[in-house]
Amino acid sequence: MKNWSPSSWRDFPIKQQPTYNDLNILKNVEKELASYPPLIFAGEALNLKKQLADVVNGKAFLLQGGDCAESFSSFNAQNIKDLFKVIMQMAVVLTFSGGCPVVKVGRVAGQFAKPRSADFEDINGISLPSYRGDIINDMDFNTDAREPKAKKLLKAYNQSAATMNLLRAFARGGMADLNQIHHWNLGFVRDNTLGAKYEELVDKISQSLTFMKSCGITSENTPQLNQTTLFTSHEALLLNYEEALTRRDSITGDWFNCSAHMLWIGDRTRDLDGAHIEYFRGIKNPIGCKVGPSMKEDELIKLIDTLNPENEAGRLNLIVRMGNEKIAEFFPKLLAKVEKEGKKVLWSSDPMHGNTIKADNGYKTRDFEAILGEVKQFFQIHKAQGSYAGGIHLEMTGQNVTECTGSKSAAITQDGLASRYHTQCDPRLNADQALELSFMIAETLKE
Ligand code: PEP
Ligand code: MN
Repeated sequence: MKNWSPSSWRDFPIKQQPTYNDLNILKNVEKELASYPPLIFAGEALNLKKQLADVVNGKAFLLQGGDCAESFSSFNAQNIKDLFKVIMQMAVVLTFSGGCPVVKVGRVAGQFAKPRSADFEDINGISLPSYRGDIINDMDFNTDAREPKAKKLLKAYNQSAATMNLLRAFARGGMADLNQIHHWNLGFVRDNTLGAKYEELVDKISQSLTFMKSCGITSENTPQLNQTTLFTSHEALLLNYEEALTRRDSITGDWFNCSAHMLWIGDRTRDLDGAHIEYFRGIKNPIGCKVGPSMKEDELIKLIDTLNPENEAGRLNLIVRMGNEKIAEFFPKLLAKVEKEGKKVLWSSDPMHGNTIKADNGYKTRDFEAILGEVKQFFQIHKAQGSYAGGIHLEMTGQNVTECTGSKSAAITQDGLASRYHTQCDPRLNADQALELSFMIAETLKE
């Protein structure tokens, strides 16, 4: 294998990239971005890797979630706060009911670039480049909006920095205080049976805290009671951005992607001889790779050997996204092969991307029953093979949206999708649906 550098991916075939008209502007933007401070530092990424190794060893559970794509227009404190709250709610359900420590990773502060099924979109005989996320172009259907503009990389960086700043403040500054746990319950969840179930759990935790306090265990001597860590992650799709934020750690001398703690490779850009695999093999962050139904057993082993040659636990998260209808056919043999070869990987389930359908009224949606079905099968398949189902990867929001149909608590019909369909790209679970799923997973973790 040739020497790796943050830019060595440029010598490899690459998929899912925009075509910039002005390469001079692009070059200047890359240079400017490369001079900006990193958003995370290497020690944090290594700490996450250690926590993910605990997951691989069956001692913790990974919860990863957030928007399909962040947008410039819905960037505000409320949205960030609501996502933080729903992740905390889910984590508390999994920790308390499931009896398992939870590693929390947001799809946030950098999740902007999107792979698309076609390079062009045709409407009424007009053909324009597809929308590829706010870091690249705009969603409006006109020539100017769809033209990729390199300056958007700088805006994405600035939004990521501000988002990260607020999340760090929430995590350390009191929003994660278990004594404030009632306040995590989002207004619209509070009013239904699920909200009541959550409040019941919260009451038990509050009682435990009172008991612990009388034993002398408080947040003054046990910071875990009022602080947490929420790591960040995104799909490292637009490699111009990722390269500019790849920095050498002064302590270890290793290269880290400093735009997020964890990065993953999408199902459409994971070709063994492609640019994305080349880029990922050289960074030392914990990384993920989506595994869809087209993955072959030998291909997966080669991919693991390229991305995790030292077989280090916590380095590689395989994010399985087969679909409710396909997981039983395609996943067991991949799992058996990887386990037989003794590869230390973290297995998590993305029950979103294999279950996207078009509703009769044209909305892109996902049905809660299919999502639940895939998660359940993911756990069953692991149980049958004696391996550990370590995590879940969700597209979700703390907002009261109507993007996925079904669930007991939210009961969204196809006709109801129109009322609050706000996603920038794929349909997300709302807080009700995310919480309902957490209670189900907690039950399974307890078994
Ligand atoms: C995504 O996670 O938004 C995505 C595009 O997933 P996948 O690569 O699995 O299709
Ligand atoms: Mn998506």
